[in-house]
Amino acid sequence: MDYLPIFLDLKHKNVLVVGAGDIALNKIKLLLRSNAIINIIAKNICSEIKCLLAQNKVFWISQEFKIVYLENIFLVIAATNNTQLNQIIFEECNKLKILVNVVDDQSKCSFIFPSIIDRSPIVVAISSSGKAPVLLRLLREKIEALLPTRLGDIANIAGKWRKIVKKKFVNFLERKRFWEKLFSSIFVQHIINGREKQAISTIEKMIKKPNILIGEVILVGAGPGNSDLLTLRALQVLQEADVVLYDNLVSQDVLNLIRRDAKCIYVGKRAGLKSITQKKIIKLLIFLAKQGKRVVRLKGGDAFIFGRGGEELEAAKNANINVQVIPGITAGIGVSAYAGIPLTHRDYAQGVIFITGHKCINNISNNWSILSDPSYTLVVYMGSLKALEISQQLILHGRLKSTPIAIISQGTTINQKVIIGRLDEIDKIFKLTVGPTLLIIGQVVLLHKKLEWFKNLTNFNNIETASSIINV
Ligand code: SAH
Repeated sequence: MDYLPIFLDLKHKNVLVVGAGDIALNKIKLLLRSNAIINIIAKNICSEIKCLLAQNKVFWISQEFKIVYLENIFLVIAATNNTQLNQIIFEECNKLKILVNVVDDQSKCSFIFPSIIDRSPIVVAISSSGKAPVLLRLLREKIEALLPTRLGDIANIAGKWRKIVKKKFVNFLERKRFWEKLFSSIFVQHIINGREKQAISTIEKMIKKPNILIGEVILVGAGPGNSDLLTLRALQVLQEADVVLYDNLVSQDVLNLIRRDAKCIYVGKRAGLKSITQKKIIKLLIFLAKQGKRVVRLKGGDAFIFGRGGEELEAAKNANINVQVIPGITAGIGVSAYAGIPLTHRDYAQGVIFITGHKCINNISNNWSILSDPSYTLVVYMGSLKALEISQQLILHGRLKSTPIAIISQGTTINQKVIIGRLDEIDKIFKLTVGPTLLIIGQVVLLHKKLEWFKNLTNFNNIETASSIINV
C-alpha cells in the first residue's frame, strides 16, 4: 500500500490554502464539507471565493506566502502556479510536520485526496495512489450505482438506536446479529422509500424479540486459487463470518476478502511444520460454534471433493450444530478450464473420473481397468508422490504409453504453468513442477494447444511441452 487510507477530523482545525484560483476553489469546497477553519493566502481571489468570504465561510490573508503563516496550521494545500513557491511550501511543511498537498504534483504531497462517494455519515473513499485515474473513475461509477442514495439516512436512523441496542444486548455477538438482521430486513426498504415511521416500528419490534445466539458451521469452497472464481454466496459468507478456519490451499487473494474483524485460524498442513490433526480441527469447529459463533470452514476447491468436508459436516450435525455448505469450483473443473482442456468432448472422452493419487496405489478398491479405459478422462488430485506408480498401473492395464497428459501447477492463478507430455514421461515432468499440481490424462489434453486461452502476465513462456524442457 503506497498510502494508508484514514479519515481526518478537521472540525475547527486551521487549514491553509495557498492560492485562490479555480483549482484552489475545488479543494476549498471539499474542505468546507469537513467544517475546517479555512484560511486562504493569495494576492487576488476569484469571484466564488469572494462570495464565500462574504458569507464568513473562509478567511483571507491578502499577502504573499510567508513561513510565519504556518503557525498553528494542521494541513496545507498549495494551489499556486508558481513551482518554486510550491517547493518552498512543501519543504517548510515537512520541516514542521504539517500535512501538505501540492495540487497536481504527487511528489510534493504528504497526503493525497481520494475519490469520494459521500452518503454521509457513510463515506467511501477510493484511490489508485495516483496511478490509474480513469480506472478509478470507472470503479467509482460502479460503487455509486451499488449504494442506495438514502444510505446516509439508513445509517443516521440506525445510529440513533445504538445506545438502546447496546443496553438491550450486552453481548457483542448478540448485538452484531441484531444489526445484521435489521439491515437485511424490510427496515432498509422502508427508508429507501421514505417510510420512516414504518422503519422505526420495525426496529422497535425487532428489539423486543429475544436474540438467541445460534452458532453454525459453514463449509465454504474457496475454489482453486484465483479469487475471481469464488461464488457470490461464498463472498457473502466470508463477510459475515465470526471465525474462519482455513487450509493451506486457500490463496492469499481469497483470504483478503474475509471480513477484517473475523478471527482467522490457519489449520492447514505446511511442510516442515507440525500440523493440526483432523480430530482437533473438528473439535475446534464444534467448540466455536457452540459459543454461538458463525464459523466458516474455508477449504481449497470444493469441500466435498478430496477435502474431508463430509467428515466435518457429519461431526457438526452429530453435535446438533446448524450447518450450511457453499460449493466451490473444484480444481478438476477450474484448473482444466483455465488450461483450455475440456474434460469431456464428443470426439475424445465420454466421461471423466476424479481420483486422488494419495495412497491410491495400495488402495485395493481402485479399479485400474476402468481407470485405464481410454474413453474416460482421468483427473488425478494429489498425484505428485505416486505419479510413477499411477502411470505404470495405467499402462499395465491398457492405457497407451503415448497417452497425452497435462500437468498443471498453480492453476487459475497468475503463476499457472501447463506442461504437456506423454504418460510414460510423467515422473520426469512432475519433478519440474511446484505444487499444487493437477494431472489430466486422456485424449482431451490434445485440445489444449488449440483452446489454450489463459496466460499469466508475468511469464509469457508458461506453456511448455515436456520435450522442450526435458530432453526426451
Ligand atoms: N478440495 C480440493 C482438493 C484438495 S486435494 C478441490 O476441490 O480442488 C489437493 C489437490 O488439489 C492438490 O494436490 C492438487 O492436485 C489439486 N489442486 C488444488 N488446487 C490446485 C491448483 N490451483 N492447481 C493445480 N492443482 C490444484
